[in-house]
Amino acid sequence: MEIAPGIHRLGSRMVNWFMIEEGGRLTVIDAGLPKQWDQLVSQVSALGMSLNDIEAVLLTHAHPDHVGFAERTRQEAGATVHVHGLDAKAATGEEEGPRANPLKLPLWKLHTMKFLASMIRGGVFNVPEIREVSEMRDGETLDLPGKPVVMHTPGHTPGSSCLFLEQSKVLFSGDALVTLNVLTGDTTPGLLPHHFNWDQQQAQESMTALRTVDADLVLPGHGEPWTSGVAEAVQAAQRP
Ligand SMILES: [Zn+2]
Repeated sequence: MEIAPGIHRLGSRMVNWFMIEEGGRLTVIDAGLPKQWDQLVSQVSALGMSLNDIEAVLLTHAHPDHVGFAERTRQEAGATVHVHGLDAKAATGEEEGPRANPLKLPLWKLHTMKFLASMIRGGVFNVPEIREVSEMRDGETLDLPGKPVVMHTPGHTPGSSCLFLEQSKVLFSGDALVTLNVLTGDTTPGLLPHHFNWDQQQAQESMTALRTVDADLVLPGHGEPWTSGVAEAVQAAQRP
């Protein structure tokens, strides 16, 4: 679905990833789950393009529900995969990287079970490691379709980053600011539940820092697009 000029939302009700089209080339933001590969292929062909037109995959962080088909895109489309340096080893499998223990989740909650089931169906336990990544740095403007600016927003993971499209005022917020609590189904903007965050305090600080970003449209890793500006999203998140 095209949610803004040249920006397409893909994935499922439980996890989002995006495609930016500019000048006949594509940037993919996050790589969902392995089984969502077919969606990538159909979307590319619906645009009248080919896999070779995918220039890069940018990962907001190295959790498996965002790394999904990144390695396959690298191999089959010749795309480069970018991730913040502090999440690089988790992406390549050199280090395990922080992640939630499923047994510590509130498994008695219906939405939690639906989320886990959807992750498992999508292949979350079978995500190929990425053999080669390019490291993104805070403040860097990437010379890729959309000209995304990297904003390091640690807390969810050490290398968690948002990607900002200055011209179109779009912020891909990854899991630093989401509009779906995957455990309860609540759609108030906020952090993911603490179970998923590497450093809760840092995650809070990073989200607060996003307030000043001049973005109208916020596209999170989980939940619906937020159209009322990032400042209002952060404000809603921090309302007691
Ligand atoms: Zn996630």
